[in-house]
Amino acid sequence: MSKIQKDIPLKLYSNLKIGGPAKFFVLVKTIKELTDVLIESKGLTPNVFVIGGGTNILFPDIGFNGLVIKVDIQGIEKRGNFVKVGAGVEMLKLLEFCVANGLSGLEWAGGLPGGVGGAVRGNAGAYTGEMKDSIFEVESIDMATYQVRKRSNAECKFGYRNSIFKQKLERKEAIAQVTFKLNRGDKDQIIEAIEDKISKRKLRHPLDYPNLGSIFQNTPIENFPKSKMNELAQYIKNDPFPVIPTAKINFLAGLSGKRVGDAQLSEKHTNFIINLGNAKAEEVKQLILIIKSKIKEVYEVELKEEISYLN
Ligand SMILES: Cc1cc2nc3c(=O)[nH]c(=O)nc-3n(C[C@H](O)[C@H](O)[C@H](O)COP(=O)(O)OP(=O)(O)OC[C@H]3O[C@@H](n4cnc5c(N)ncnc54)[C@H](O)[C@@H]3O)c2cc1C
Repeated sequence: MSKIQKDIPLKLYSNLKIGGPAKFFVLVKTIKELTDVLIESKGLTPNVFVIGGGTNILFPDIGFNGLVIKVDIQGIEKRGNFVKVGAGVEMLKLLEFCVANGLSGLEWAGGLPGGVGGAVRGNAGAYTGEMKDSIFEVESIDMATYQVRKRSNAECKFGYRNSIFKQKLERKEAIAQVTFKLNRGDKDQIIEAIEDKISKRKLRHPLDYPNLGSIFQNTPIENFPKSKMNELAQYIKNDPFPVIPTAKINFLAGLSGKRVGDAQLSEKHTNFIINLGNAKAEEVKQLILIIKSKIKEVYEVELKEEISYLN
């Protein structure tokens, strides 16, 4: 049985090392524990929020007046080319399993931090791959009725960094288990493809500092005014469709290294905000506003956050 703890600093569970205390906090390791905690929470608070690895969410400085549930459901089970995985399994561990079993399909995710649940909810993607390409079925728990719900890939309504869990079911259902449909592949080729992505990330990302990955989504080319496309056409990237990389326009707009307090737009990757030591969530938010407003002024386009907020 998981024990609900009190006043736990969320910065301990944040990859950006920012966040005040959660009034209640609990880590769940099984679907039963998750259901039991949801039932117990009814007597405690109406505010319940689910997290995974904390690699894509900004926690507030004042903390959270409710219950934060860290979904740490483990387990990887293989049946032929189908692999059922607990939502708390780290993508890194899933990739190790794929290598050990010669399963191909997720190599693009080499070096992707965080857990399977968070990656499914945001349809994480990189190097032209996305979670949705390999997902067969997602099992989630209705946080009000505790019913288990199974959805096919089509029912998850995946889109660019999007899914039904991020839209209609936000704060309503917790992803518990995910079944992937993978292909048989050559072990050495799988390892090579994964290591290639890991070294690209090491080269480009400011991994020496706490961060949340890319703060903003890349912007589809059709969102830019035609007058800006002459300048930007050379930077179009086809991942997963034609976009202008936010890191590029941030750089061109002179935002590299821009700083509010200890929050800084990285000079190494101009779509990452790094914590130089003692950054506050409010500083990160201010920096986000500055970047958005500059990009609006220069490129007449609205940047959209890729990260989530806990409010
Ligand atoms: C260095 C670095 C590089 C990154 N590179 C990429 C990249 O290339 N591509 C990319 O897409 N992302 C990238 N990210 C962002 C992030 O790693 C992914 O989005 C990751 O999949 C988030 O998983 P998480 O477990 O950390 O989620 P969290 O940060 O814990 O949560 C993110 C959101 O998902 C929700 N959530 C988490 N678990 C569940 C669950 N079980 N059920 C329902 N909702 C849930 C939370 O409520 C929150 O809203 C990067 C991040 C870092 C730090």
